[in-house]
Amino acid sequence: MRKFISWRDAAVITGILAVAFLVFNVQFFTGKTAEYAEVWVEGQLALSIPLGQSIALYTPVPGVTVAAGHSTRFLSSDCRDPFCVRTGALLSPGNVAVCLPHRVMLRVTGAQPGGLDAVTG
Ligand SMILES: [Zn+2]
Repeated sequence: MRKFISWRDAAVITGILAVAFLVFNVQFFTGKTAEYAEVWVEGQLALSIPLGQSIALYTPVPGVTVAAGHSTRFLSSDCRDPFCVRTGALLSPGNVAVCLPHRVMLRVTGAQPGGLDAVTG
């Protein structure tokens, strides 16, 4: 009679679960440190959006729509080459997307500067 799961299969499955768990934790952790989406227009900070579960849409300049939820992204833009939209979602602090024609920059910042939540080490 054939066993359904051999010890080797069990080891492989455990390994996959361990990796999945680690990846999930890293995403959870980096997601937790992403606190604000900043929208810069022509070098000026135009919007600072707290990131959370609810999704909101913003129009920092005519023709550009930015979405912010637990991550942020350029949702649509009427620029000729929408590289900004193709950049996709920004999840982690330091992630940046730029719309050059509209001179809009979108970036994710972490916890408040100097905050104890900042990642150290
Ligand atoms: Zn663009």
